[in-house]
Amino acid sequence: MRGDDLRLDLRLEFREAIFGGEKEIKINHLETCTTCDGSGAKPGTRPKPCGTCGGSGQVRRATRTPFGSFTQVSVCPACDGVGQVVEDKCVTCGGSGQNQVRKKLKITVPPGVDSGTRLRVPGEGDAGQRGGPKGDLYVYLYVNEDAQFRRDGINILSELKVSYLQAILGAKMQVETVDGTAEVNIPVGTQPNTVLTLDNRGVPRLGNSESRGDHLMTVNVDIPAKLTSEERDLLEKLAHIRGEATGKGGIEGFLGGLFRS
Ligand SMILES: [Zn+2]
Ligand SMILES: [Zn+2]
Repeated sequence: MRGDDLRLDLRLEFREAIFGGEKEIKINHLETCTTCDGSGAKPGTRPKPCGTCGGSGQVRRATRTPFGSFTQVSVCPACDGVGQVVEDKCVTCGGSGQNQVRKKLKITVPPGVDSGTRLRVPGEGDAGQRGGPKGDLYVYLYVNEDAQFRRDGINILSELKVSYLQAILGAKMQVETVDGTAEVNIPVGTQPNTVLTLDNRGVPRLGNSESRGDHLMTVNVDIPAKLTSEERDLLEKLAHIRGEATGKGGIEGFLGGLFRS
C-alpha cells in the first residue's frame, strides 16, 4: 500500500517569496522500521501466511438469495488484506513495520511563489506499508505582508510621497525597491496619483524567473499644513503674479475665504 501524502503549512517573509531560497522545515512522518525492514516481525522470525484467508488477503462468502447465489469478496479482517500475520512482533515498531520520525528537511522555494502556492516534495510523505511506495509531502505557502510593498500578481505596488514643489518642478529621487534603492525621475508637473513604473523591479514569474513584473509607484503629493513666514511670503508673491486670490489680506482674500467655507 502506498503511504499517505502529508501537508505542511509554511509562512514566508515577503522578500523570501519574491526571491525564493532554501528553507529548513521540520516534519513528522512515518518511516519504514529499520529493525524489521518494514515486515513488522521480530528479527529472526518471519510473518506467517494468514490462516483466515490462506495468504490471499481476501475472503469470499457465498450468499444464497431467491434470485440466485452470489459470491461476495472482501478484505480479510484478520490480516487487513496483507495476507500475512506477524506472530512475534518487532519491538521497535510494535508490528506495524513503521515508526513516526521527526525529521529536518531543506526545501527549495522557487522565486515568485505567493500565498496559496503548493510545493510538492516527492517521497517525504508517509512510508508505504510492506514495501509500498512513499507518499509525498505538500508544502502550502503563506506569504507575510510587507509594511512598504504590496503585490498584484507579478507587479509590486507602493506609494511615493513627493513634496508639492517636487511635483511641480520635477525631481530625481531615491526610492526603495525589493532590490534595494533605485533612482526614479519625477517628471515636471506630476499630478497626484500618477503611477510611475520601474521596469523589471517586480516579482519573478514562477517557473521563469528571468522574466519579472514591474514596480508601480503611486505618487502622493504632500501639501504642507503649515508654512514658515518666508515660505508664505514667497507663495503669496507667486499667487499675486498668477493673479490668484488667496487667504491673506485684501477684500478678495476675505471674499475668497467666505466662499471657501
Ligand atoms: Zn488474511
Ligand atoms: Zn519494526
